Amino acid sequence: MKAVLKTEWEPGIIEIKDVDKPKIGADEVLIEVMATGICGSDVEIYEASMPLPVSLPRIMGHEFSGVVVEVGEAVLGVRVDDRVVAESGIVCRRCRFCKMGRHNLCLQRKILGYLWDGTFAEYVKVPGINVHKVPDNVPLDEAALAEPTAVTVHAVVERAHIMAGDVVAILGPGPIGLLTLQCAKSAGARRIIVTGLSADRSRLELARKLGADETINVEEEDAVKKTKELTDAFGADVVFEATGAPPAVKQAIDLTRKGGKIVLMGLHTKPVEKFDATHIIVNEKNILSSFAHASQTWDRALSLISDGKIKPRPLITHVLPLEQIEQGFHLVKKKEAIKVVIKPP
Ligand SMILES: [Zn+2]
Ligand SMILES: [Zn+2]
Repeated sequence: MKAVLKTEWEPGIIEIKDVDKPKIGADEVLIEVMATGICGSDVEIYEASMPLPVSLPRIMGHEFSGVVVEVGEAVLGVRVDDRVVAESGIVCRRCRFCKMGRHNLCLQRKILGYLWDGTFAEYVKVPGINVHKVPDNVPLDEAALAEPTAVTVHAVVERAHIMAGDVVAILGPGPIGLLTLQCAKSAGARRIIVTGLSADRSRLELARKLGADETINVEEEDAVKKTKELTDAFGADVVFEATGAPPAVKQAIDLTRKGGKIVLMGLHTKPVEKFDATHIIVNEKNILSSFAHASQTWDRALSLISDGKIKPRPLITHVLPLEQIEQGFHLVKKKEAIKVVIKPP
């Protein structure tokens, strides 16, 4: 089968080549990949700047949907021809964190495309327990965005516990920011502000179409001042930091009202400097983090897509064949694309 492999930890080095189709064990399923999205983190792996461990050679990719073609004899509840997505974290289901339902913190978690062969390929194998059926009314190219949707459901629902009437600010109008926006809206946020850079202009426009009440270009306007104006000098109840840019962390803290919540989602390649602990303490601001998703996050994410509360379709700006994946990486890197979906042969 054709697959995209990271072969050397050097920027821009990948190989697209024929490899053996994965052989499944008794508790695994083989899925034919129908659509697989390029995540910002895939570009970081391509560029060899990803801070999380990746073992090489490795088939890249973790956001996908597909059709089951083979089912191991010990797998329950999954059949050949099922339209599915799969959790991108392969976890042990036995450690204390897994038993707490916090699968994203599993001591042995292996992420697809990092420590387990991923989805930029014709086929991928995963444990049967990782599989979730795609609702009948959801097309598979939209279902390929179930993974980033689950990331935002985890942040909005399971970490921030957004409540009806909350004023929310989202820093970064990338795919995660735009899905966070829709999720926060469906959770009952009253007013949503999305911030970005000049290069994000078209993304900020899309944010408005998807329900943002205000958008702020932080290169043209002072986001803290503007947010204070919009909230009677109060600040936002909850701020999601979805950029991974170190200065945005301070901005997220400054945008948050006293006693409010800051949710850090964007992964950083460098430590954040100028972190004012006293300001956080005397204002009782709550710094939370959100990483990936747990098993239980997925059904909620798929239901929200099925109900039309979260719409992945407007985020898909490009669909490319597997052979043109490098072009996809460049489109994402230059912010010419929002979400690139790859169709393997
Ligand atoms: Zn991703
Ligand atoms: Zn575990």
